[in-house]
Amino acid sequence: MTENHKPVAGAIKYKRVLLKLSGEALMGDREYGLDPATVDRVATEIKGVIQEGVEVCVVIGGGNIFRGVSVAAKGMDRSTADYMGMLGTVMNALAMQNALERIGVQTRVQSAIPMSTVCEPYIRRRAIRHMEKGRVVIFGAGTGNPFFTTDSAAALRASEMGCDALLKATKVDGVYSADPVKVKDATRYEKLSYLDVLSQDLQVMDASAISLARQSQIPILVFSIFNHGAFAEVVQGKGLFTTISD
Ligand code: UDP
Repeated sequence: MTENHKPVAGAIKYKRVLLKLSGEALMGDREYGLDPATVDRVATEIKGVIQEGVEVCVVIGGGNIFRGVSVAAKGMDRSTADYMGMLGTVMNALAMQNALERIGVQTRVQSAIPMSTVCEPYIRRRAIRHMEKGRVVIFGAGTGNPFFTTDSAAALRASEMGCDALLKATKVDGVYSADPVKVKDATRYEKLSYLDVLSQDLQVMDASAISLARQSQIPILVFSIFNHGAFAEVVQGKGLFTTISD
């Protein structure tokens, strides 16, 4: 058993999970880039889950730095802009690695675009081995392909890693009928099917990510990473979250 693995009381429902963090989740109150205090807070939440004995991998977005479809990319060739977006996700991955290692969590960053002086290239079997040893594997550079998103990367890596669940971290504690910040009586769904999300065009993850998760039969659990301890609860099947499954 490695230093990272210190199982505590509480039955784990999901033994291996993928956490999808958007770039915005690391931005705090800023309008751009990273907020170190927010990154530290999220790192602490991840540590809590590792200490339960859960194997964790993370896909990080890059919307806080650059989006291929953004105004900033206007007039640019879409593929070039998307490659820039993917590079942004690697910056976020390194920031998260740093924050985790500072609090004693062993990590590895693997990039879908090889950059061997910065981090490991993505190697599926190696990533699985890292997780088995209790290391948090952070996947950077999305799928490595333009015209995709990090949501699709999350569904892809969760499928490849054989994850028991894909945890989509948001600012609210699940999927609502309308934006709960704007609409007071918006209701939170306990459960949705993949097809509900697709047919009602609920803005949870993009359609290709939902379809892939459906094909791999990986439940998507939508929860708030900003509720302290929520991540640790969700892996036990407790607390507030919306389950998307068949
Ligand atoms: N991106 C890409 N292929 C991928 C993943 C990401 O081209 O497989 C690019 C795309 O330009 C995207 C940007 O990286 O806009 C940042 O990712 P995303 O928008 O998914 O980040 P998030 O919304 O999760 O912060």
